[in-house]
Amino acid sequence: MRVDVVSIFPEYFAPLGLSLLGKARAESRLELAVHDLRTWTHDVHRTVDDTPYGGGAGMVMRPEPWGEALDALADGRTRLVVPAPTGRLFTQDLAHELAAEEHLLFACGRYEGIDQRVLDHAAGRMPVTEVSLGDYVLFGGEVAVLVMLEAITRLLPGVLGNSASLDEESHANGLLEAPMYTKPAVWRELEVPEILRSGDHGKIARWRRDQALLRTAARRPDLVAALDPATLDKKDRAT
Ligand code: SAM
Repeated sequence: MRVDVVSIFPEYFAPLGLSLLGKARAESRLELAVHDLRTWTHDVHRTVDDTPYGGGAGMVMRPEPWGEALDALADGRTRLVVPAPTGRLFTQDLAHELAAEEHLLFACGRYEGIDQRVLDHAAGRMPVTEVSLGDYVLFGGEVAVLVMLEAITRLLPGVLGNSASLDEESHANGLLEAPMYTKPAVWRELEVPEILRSGDHGKIARWRRDQALLRTAARRPDLVAALDPATLDKKDRAT
């Protein structure tokens, strides 16, 4: 997958060389380039913002540098992703959808966001998706892109050593994951549940499923309500 990111703070993306994301890049599973929006300015101050039409607080990102950036970086395979608190909520399903794309172009807004005409014009030549991380407001789109890129990259083929982890983790099947434990078996008088030490894989799987159901019901009843009843067995219903 190819990813281009445009921002006025390219330094924000230094961590993308670390850990499994850095490894995915080193192994060419992810081809990533970060661009400074100011490359596409032409005045001495390298201006990217101006006052809003209609008045109001703050500044808005001017359309010209964004238009030139998209002209330079987009092609027939591009999907433009614009972080915005007004966008579609970022979920594991959307991460899967984006992980299936050939080329993602992320446009990081700052100030009060990007002039709407940039998105309207781009929508005439490529799919455009505004994406929100949640119901709160950040300073800029950079952190949102870091979050999205982590979630997307771990779904790319070959990135996780054991791809089974993707099937068992939270949000893979509409549930939150059961609690996890490691050694020692007793720590500060707290014991790992006996069943996890029993070696009985059938019982362990059932226990984990029950714990996932109970935890999801307690913490995220909205997820339980959204479960497809056809995916529940008799024991699930009893839990
Ligand atoms: N004036 C905008 C509004 O009220 O909808 C908020 C602009 S915010 C200060 C600046 C930039 O941060 C946005 O253009 C967007 O790129 C990013 N941003 C802020 N909150 C976000 C969120 N919840 N999800 C994704 N991106 C966000």
